[in-house]
Amino acid sequence: MAPITDSQIDDLKDLVHKLEARVHDLEHRLESGETKPSLVESMRLILIGPPGAGKGTQAPRIKDRYCICHLATGDMLRAQVAKKTPLGREAKKIMDQGGLVSDDIMINMIKNELDTNRECENGFILDGFPRTVAQAEGLDSMLQAESKPLKHAIELQIDDGLLVSRITGRLIHPASGRSYHKVFNPPKETMKDDVTGEPLIQRTDDNAETLKKRLSTYHEQTAPVVGYYKTRGIWAGIDASQDPEHVWKSILGVFGDSKTTSSSSGILSKIGLR
Ligand code: ADP
Ligand code: AMP
Repeated sequence: MAPITDSQIDDLKDLVHKLEARVHDLEHRLESGETKPSLVESMRLILIGPPGAGKGTQAPRIKDRYCICHLATGDMLRAQVAKKTPLGREAKKIMDQGGLVSDDIMINMIKNELDTNRECENGFILDGFPRTVAQAEGLDSMLQAESKPLKHAIELQIDDGLLVSRITGRLIHPASGRSYHKVFNPPKETMKDDVTGEPLIQRTDDNAETLKKRLSTYHEQTAPVVGYYKTRGIWAGIDASQDPEHVWKSILGVFGDSKTTSSSSGILSKIGLR
């Protein structure tokens, strides 16, 4: 182990002083009745990209870093399918054919979450929504009503040819939506979720044939959403064919958040010290 230096000790003392000052500040704000201290700037963003682009892989990292909610409409629909609700039964047919569930249903689903889910108080990341221009317009009007406009629309760009192997090798943990890949991101134990140890499954729509339909649905109905956000000046495109770590760095670049993950993803960044 390297010897301890005076400057390391000074750095630590400095950090402790800053920490104390920050705790005092937070206590003061709490006592003065400020209920929502803006420890991190509120973040509202969407991830756009074809199936397999990496939305579900990157979203949890964004969620953790900015303490915001992650709403994945595909996961929400799969929960309905699992519960065998009327919506779930209807949605399953559409999902297995690679089509889209109706705009009204999806807009209401998102509105309900944004209105009631406390995890979304500090912002949100939408994954798989909006998938049509009508959904984008619906989202805009609900956000305008709250004066909380979207900040970023990030497009994960990747050639269709690379998606077959990503989709056919994908494994998911249904309860959390966590995704793995048989080759690119295998679980620690075969077919088991790293966190809960529960079984992983392959989605019924994750096969080469349904993927073809999902991709044409994407190009026909979702690609225009990119143009919609380009005209609003909040679009950014990212090369999603890179490895996940590079994709993550590119995303941080869009946020102007260039600090390395090791030093800034922890408690210090959350309390505003890094
Ligand atoms: P999406 O949510 O956009 O449909 P996922 O995040 O579920 O896509 O990723 C699809 C599959 O590809 C998953 O099995 C995931 O582990 C894998 N994957 C995600 N990002 C990458 C990447 N950058 N390189 C290689 N494989 C990836
Ligand atoms: P995903 O998990 O994002 O790949 O979504 C799986 C399937 O759910 C899609 O192929 C669609 O059938 C349906 N779906 C998910 N999100 C939406 C949405 N915003 N609008 C319509 N259908 C959706």
